[in-house]
Amino acid sequence: MEVVTFGESMVLFSGDQELPLEYVHQFHKQMAGAESNVAIGLARLGHSTGWFSKLGQDAFGRYILQSVRGQGVDTSRCTYTDAAPTAVFFKERGRGGKTKVYYYRQGSAASLMTNDDLDESYLTQAKILHVTGITPALSESCFELTKHAMDVAKRNQVSIVFDPNIRWKLWDRDTAKSRLLELAARADYILPGLDEGEFLTGRPRAKEIAEFFLKLGSKAVVVKLGKDGAYYQSLTERGHVPAIPVQEIDPVGAGDGFAAGFISGLLRNDSLAMSVTRANAVGAIVVGVQGDTEGLPNEEELQAMLSGQTGYQN
Ligand code: ATP
Repeated sequence: MEVVTFGESMVLFSGDQELPLEYVHQFHKQMAGAESNVAIGLARLGHSTGWFSKLGQDAFGRYILQSVRGQGVDTSRCTYTDAAPTAVFFKERGRGGKTKVYYYRQGSAASLMTNDDLDESYLTQAKILHVTGITPALSESCFELTKHAMDVAKRNQVSIVFDPNIRWKLWDRDTAKSRLLELAARADYILPGLDEGEFLTGRPRAKEIAEFFLKLGSKAVVVKLGKDGAYYQSLTERGHVPAIPVQEIDPVGAGDGFAAGFISGLLRNDSLAMSVTRANAVGAIVVGVQGDTEGLPNEEELQAMLSGQTGYQN
């Protein structure tokens, strides 16, 4: 595998009507998970990618495994447990398009992951480990596993990409901050959103956020700026890549698409600026399509977007 990642994917039930959940009768079922989104994005761009998790021994666990594997991601290191169920969550569509999510994930199968879930030889033959700040928020053992995976990667020259991906519902602010900073100190590439960067560093501007993480030991920092694109900085270069203008249909998943585009640039040995340009383009394509993974492009579609000859810009 070129890239290894791990985390929790859940079954998402979205209410079909713009009503409080107690009045909704029909739900649309799909799979959702930040790390599996990135893995699927990379597979679509032609990279060999492995994702692992612990799934409940139930229909939803099987559904998730089939969905991820069906997208060309290696799931050979996933395990099932009958000690806890696969997590699910519900999306409520309020009036005017405002959405709220309700998690049923506490004590889930994935939260039971421990250091034993990491096959070290599987990770050490990879080029890149991708980690998010969601997995360490699931449980103490998941936090330990995340640190352990990063340490094993570091010892074996596997580059580490870290997306803080802060989920406020999963932990209190102080714990989130101290633990995410502990993880950030182990990462080579950090991809915070501007708000996340400000929360973690106490600095409001992208350049200051990047400098904070560079001092902490990372090789490069890319601060995501939504429809304003992204700012990147390493010890030797820095710059801003504007977003590609698109009509925003569904912003969810843009950050995961961005990570997939960025990692694919690293794997191609592209420059930092070019990797961020690819990341921006994948992010733009994803926001222009409904769904988290449906819009993830293959290399041909990405090249079309980069050269401006695309049907995505409507
Ligand atoms: P997510 O909602 O998936 O967690 P995020 O907060 O991590 O996303 P964003 O900054 O919202 O990240 O988006 C990631 C990237 O996607 C941006 O840096 C940009 O390149 C692209 N992007 C996001 N929104 C737009 C938009 N409206 N138009 C064009 N590109 C966009």
